[in-house]
Amino acid sequence: MTDTDHPLELSGPEMRALVEAALDRIVTHIESLPTQPVSNTRAGFELAPSLAEPLPEEGAAVSGLLDLLFERAIPPSFNTASPGYLAYIPGGGLFHSAVADLIADSTNRYTSVYGAAPALAQLEANVIAWFCQIAGYPPEARGTLTSGGSLANWTALVTARRERLPENFLSGVIYASDQSHYSVAKGAILAGFPEANVREVPTDDLFRLRVDALAELIAEDRRRGLTPFLIAASAGTTNTGAVDPLAELADLAAREGLWLHVDAAYGGFFLLTAEGKRAMREIERADSIVLDPHKGLFLPYGTGAVLVRDGEALRRAHSLTADYMPGMQNDPDRVDFSQYSPELSRPFRGLRVWLPFKMHGAGAFRAQLEEKLALARLAADRLRAMPGIEILAEPQLSLLAFRLAPAGVSEGELNELNHRFLDRVNARQRVYLTPTRLRGRFAPRICVLSFRTHRERMEMALEDIAAAQREVLGA
Ligand SMILES: *Cc1c(COP(=O)(O)O)cnc(C)c1O
Repeated sequence: MTDTDHPLELSGPEMRALVEAALDRIVTHIESLPTQPVSNTRAGFELAPSLAEPLPEEGAAVSGLLDLLFERAIPPSFNTASPGYLAYIPGGGLFHSAVADLIADSTNRYTSVYGAAPALAQLEANVIAWFCQIAGYPPEARGTLTSGGSLANWTALVTARRERLPENFLSGVIYASDQSHYSVAKGAILAGFPEANVREVPTDDLFRLRVDALAELIAEDRRRGLTPFLIAASAGTTNTGAVDPLAELADLAAREGLWLHVDAAYGGFFLLTAEGKRAMREIERADSIVLDPHKGLFLPYGTGAVLVRDGEALRRAHSLTADYMPGMQNDPDRVDFSQYSPELSRPFRGLRVWLPFKMHGAGAFRAQLEEKLALARLAADRLRAMPGIEILAEPQLSLLAFRLAPAGVSEGELNELNHRFLDRVNARQRVYLTPTRLRGRFAPRICVLSFRTHRERMEMALEDIAAAQREVLGA
């Protein structure tokens, strides 16, 4: 029964009908993911301009709106939820988290202030404590869930700046490798640092930050009267998955009195696995760490995390309040998230992590991540055995870069050849790979991180790579 006086207040039957109508489309969509094209944006470019419209004054039936979404607008996109999406850093999209969002959004509790929803704030605090446990952090560590890794890197930079530098901080210098994610430099700029104060440190032949070069840069900056203050290491670069030498960097940071930040947005959740722990040994010595649950925990987009080893530092950097605010808790066990975050009102992000962890346990995530590591190793082993293929970056985690390098083709021609090769791989629409440039070389990458990617899909990737190689070489 529609209440014509209050159309925005749905009745019980209306709510059920709306969710069922949407759910019907969602389940059909998800079940068809394995056979959908993996990247298919052309129709989207054509459709998009026709969708621009002025503010609608009248309502329309939901069935037509769902048709528009599921039949026309959703399909022509990067299919980031597909098992064949091995591009960039793959997205996830755990359905459990979507259900958690439905609960969080429809109950719409206020979780930024402990006193407004103590039990729910506690559940989110549990999530942060679990992440701290995964990172090997002590009990006094704290953190906050952000919209993603970029905002998490920025929050870490602001925290370090407030903790270590005076209000006039313009001489502060930040060091990150030439492979670091651009959100580190962007975060530094948005945190108020001059662009010229972000140093690009060269990397070794495994694309890891060179500690010797960093030490020289720090010394040189001190001689020039600048204030070296923060090292931003990577635990899994976006280009090749390289893990910087975290233990040596922690030693250097301690010697020089610098803040060590680790951007583990891609790699961090591999700490759930034994192999990941080995690769990121001593990450717990970092002053701050960024993790991206919407990558390594397979969540839908919209959840990043920043952890700070000295939780009080995160609080000192963000704890302002006002007369119209409710009283804040002065108890470390009662977290007011508004005191640890640049945000005040915000979604209850914790629930989208909490629900799948509670339903399946950490073991289910560990097994998935171990499988991804094994799939990347399998891909590397098989590509290495293929004549005419060169691995440019072996997997340090679940990411590798390679290229065609047939005998007799000059370095100058290889980039163009690999461009055509990658287009042929992707044209088959069973997998989607994206390239990067490694020291000038055009390098297709394979990044395995979707919970839907399994052995069968990796076999398809290898078949399509072999077929594309035959096509471009005319063999
Ligand atoms: C993805 C990524 C980021 C940025 O995270 P967003 O969630 O996309 O904002 C930062 N660093 C690394 C290493 C990444 O892979």
